[in-house]
Amino acid sequence: MLCPYCRTGETKVIDSRASEDYIIRRRRECLNQRCGRRFTTYEEIEEVPLKVIKKDGTRVPFDRKKIQAGLEKACYKRPVSAGTIDLIINQVEADVHREFDREVPSRYIGERVFNLLREIDQVAFVRFASVYREFKDVNDFVEELTPMIREARSRKEGTGSRSGDELEPRKP
Ligand SMILES: [Zn+2]
Repeated sequence: MLCPYCRTGETKVIDSRASEDYIIRRRRECLNQRCGRRFTTYEEIEEVPLKVIKKDGTRVPFDRKKIQAGLEKACYKRPVSAGTIDLIINQVEADVHREFDREVPSRYIGERVFNLLREIDQVAFVRFASVYREFKDVNDFVEELTPMIREARSRKEGTGSRSGDELEPRKP
């Protein structure tokens, strides 16, 4: 950019750092030797952070960590690696950015996580549903997915394949 003082000299960036969220602070120096002034510019990234539309219409920032926390609880002691959990979140995030511009309904995120997890681990899938139902305030998208959870549960119970220690019926 041109120096705003002499309006002739090109400037170079001598320092660059992110100051606040989405704002980059740059220290610049005029290359015109008769000027040579230093000044600071602030660059704001125009992209608006993705917001999640909750069931009640309120908006909250999209947060990978919330999805990750839920998935980790669901996959506790299950044969699902941290790498796989990362892949699920990456896939969900990529889908969201492809399908939506600035706002995504919470329902969409929930459905994507559920569909991906169902293909990977049935037990983790059912647990994920339970985890989010317990912590509605964390992400209440699950509320909207309750019918889907019930469907998955009844399908599971219907198969009679209750094998594995995780699903062993409790002794009286
Ligand atoms: Zn200058």
